[in-house]
Amino acid sequence: MTSMQAPLLLTPGPLTTTARTKNAMLHDWGSWDGDFNALTARLGRRLLSIIDGGDNYACVPLQGSGTFAVEAAIGTLMPRDGKLLVLVNGAYGKRMAQLTAMMGRRVDVADFGETSPVDPAVVRERLAADPDITHVGVIYCETSTGILNPLADIAHEVAAAGRKLVIDAMSAFGALPLSCRELAFEAVVGSSNKCLEGVPGMGFVLARTDALEQAEGRSHSLSLDLHDQWRYMSRTGQWRYTPPTHVVAAFDCALDQYEEQGGQPSRLARYEANCETLIDGLAAIGLRSFLPSSIQAPIIVTVHAPDHPNWNFTEFYRRVKEHGVILYPGKLTAVETFRVGCIGAIDSGDMERGVAAIASVLADMGMQTN
Ligand SMILES: *Cc1c(COP(=O)(O)O)cnc(C)c1O
Repeated sequence: MTSMQAPLLLTPGPLTTTARTKNAMLHDWGSWDGDFNALTARLGRRLLSIIDGGDNYACVPLQGSGTFAVEAAIGTLMPRDGKLLVLVNGAYGKRMAQLTAMMGRRVDVADFGETSPVDPAVVRERLAADPDITHVGVIYCETSTGILNPLADIAHEVAAAGRKLVIDAMSAFGALPLSCRELAFEAVVGSSNKCLEGVPGMGFVLARTDALEQAEGRSHSLSLDLHDQWRYMSRTGQWRYTPPTHVVAAFDCALDQYEEQGGQPSRLARYEANCETLIDGLAAIGLRSFLPSSIQAPIIVTVHAPDHPNWNFTEFYRRVKEHGVILYPGKLTAVETFRVGCIGAIDSGDMERGVAAIASVLADMGMQTN
């Protein structure tokens, strides 16, 4: 074992994982091995059951970080002559628009700034005004601030206009509700290292089977071709190209714990308790969260930096880290902020430990705020 003290990651992924999840990586798997193929198949079934996927959806896992899976989903599911409207209120929406433009597909943006949720009425207007739009891309929880977008209302507008919805649910999947029985969507994208509390290294796309069937030859990229990955996997049970074996094993183990703990409702309840403990604890030491609670997802909290001449994020981060707590920088352009994640194998006691570390460092830096 390592002599390093286990850090408490208050970050939106990679995040704190359990010892049991880490232990699941202590076995070496062959990629041709039947046991590993069974693991991959089970993982796909479990991810599909989280959205009540049934036979209408298929799970296509993909090597890489979450962005690779978003890029693969757009490049595979959108026809070459399609047009994507991306609903942007932060960095991840911008990224989806950027990767679509880079692969040479038509893309338009509805920009809601950095501090407001997507407005479904605007989505309706934009879709009515532009019949060329075939697909709409949305970020469920915009991790760059922690804003919760009104997914059900957005999905309703997109379906009513006869267009197809691709959801980047990376930082929401498994914690916030998402069922294909309640919402219409073409595909949802997630990754191993966020609310399902696995380790980083793979993403996955849960896509309508009929959409995958129609997607042959659309991808601009060999390694990001989800249709090919799906076909190959259906035929052989194997991943195309080297699978992240240890990541898959850890993810399957993390899903054991997810199910034992009660699945989505209980994961959401734990994160809500974390978020509340954090926001209350910070308020008690004079730090304000940035978003109003009505649009705050219980995933990551953006916090106003103390309005004090001694403020310096790099120094603050370094000192908080000495207490064993890892924070996250802010991502807003106009306001000085930092971020604290509420997700991972952590509970309210850990959030209190995080707040205590922050309080102690602010005092040491001469920034007692109350
Ligand atoms: C984490 C995240 C991603 C993917 O980021 P990677 O760094 O590529 O894993 C995409 N969208 C959202 C909303 C995210 O939170």
